[in-house]
Amino acid sequence: MTFDFVFRNARIAGNEDQAVDIGIRDGRFIAVEATLPEGSGPTENLSGRLVVPGFVETHIHLDKSCLLGRCNCEQGTLDEAIAEVAAAKKAFTDEDVYARARSTLEKSLKQGTTRMRTHVEVDPRVGLTSFRALKRLKDDYAWAIDLELCVFPQEGLLDDPGCEDVMIQALRFDVDIDFHLDFGLDPAHLDLVEVCRLTDQHGLGGRVAIGHVTKLSAVPPQALEASAKRLAAAGVAITVLPSTDLFLTARDHDHNVPRGVTPVHRLLAHGVNCSISTNNVLNPFTPFGDCSLIRMANLYANIAQVGASVDLAACLDMVSAASAKLLNHRDYGIAVGHPADLVVLDCESRAQAVCELAQPIFGLKRGRRTFDRPLPRLHHPA
Ligand SMILES: [Zn+2]
Repeated sequence: MTFDFVFRNARIAGNEDQAVDIGIRDGRFIAVEATLPEGSGPTENLSGRLVVPGFVETHIHLDKSCLLGRCNCEQGTLDEAIAEVAAAKKAFTDEDVYARARSTLEKSLKQGTTRMRTHVEVDPRVGLTSFRALKRLKDDYAWAIDLELCVFPQEGLLDDPGCEDVMIQALRFDVDIDFHLDFGLDPAHLDLVEVCRLTDQHGLGGRVAIGHVTKLSAVPPQALEASAKRLAAAGVAITVLPSTDLFLTARDHDHNVPRGVTPVHRLLAHGVNCSISTNNVLNPFTPFGDCSLIRMANLYANIAQVGASVDLAACLDMVSAASAKLLNHRDYGIAVGHPADLVVLDCESRAQAVCELAQPIFGLKRGRRTFDRPLPRLHHPA
């Protein structure tokens, strides 16, 4: 058997105890074996480094990224962020949205992201301007990333509790549903209860996700467990957005500020699928961002006080395999027949990747090299 390329001595995330060889041909994984024969194709030795099938961003707003220079960010509240971005949106053009989104997307690519769902806003202010720009971006960067557009009515549905209509529309168009809900610290009312009920009613289990859900950070363990069991039974996934949740939550506290990040690693044990994602980049919702999902996993692990190796590994899964599952990407993973998407990290295990913010060294999309990040070098005295 011959290959276009062979990577030797690779530790595949999730099965990293033993290094293997990976053979690629025509953009797909053709063989994953302990040892592939010599002379079967051009070869690179990965020296036991960890290989992931690329990072998966489940929740990011490319259309309103990179707005800091145009917005005030004085109070740091959700209301201020929504108002500032709503005002900025009036000046959005196709070219402007495209340029800002491209800048953020290219950062993501260089951090090893190979698949992404972006929430694109449609409303009377911006019309389909952002949608058109991101559709063009999706086509232009198809060589490097699978980009899925998720329509997001930021200005409308927050004032309209009638999510049933949205669910029915989604069912009609046969698309998955991804909510922003239960943001805040008062768990007296949880919208996720209604989402689970409607998910059951319409048979949409496995196709519904909810972002933020910071209210679950404010419930005691028994209530968290009850919500976890309900979410798992309905097949509703949760996405935690640590950077935004930390930045916006509890702005009415001036000391001893709650973190407001739901402990999703505790939901996993009850069968809830969970992902960790970036959400906003360099705008009033989150004035930070390098688009690194490893950094986001590390941030989550740090503030959620995750220390056990198995839980640290799960944090990496929540920016990779679990995220792909949330997006229902069944061709994700380093397995024979799947598209040859891979990213090599400078570490040997998922836990180490999270603890050390391991650097992505290079990546492939469908067998083609898409980026390089050479490792830094020290120059010792002679
Ligand atoms: Zn969002």
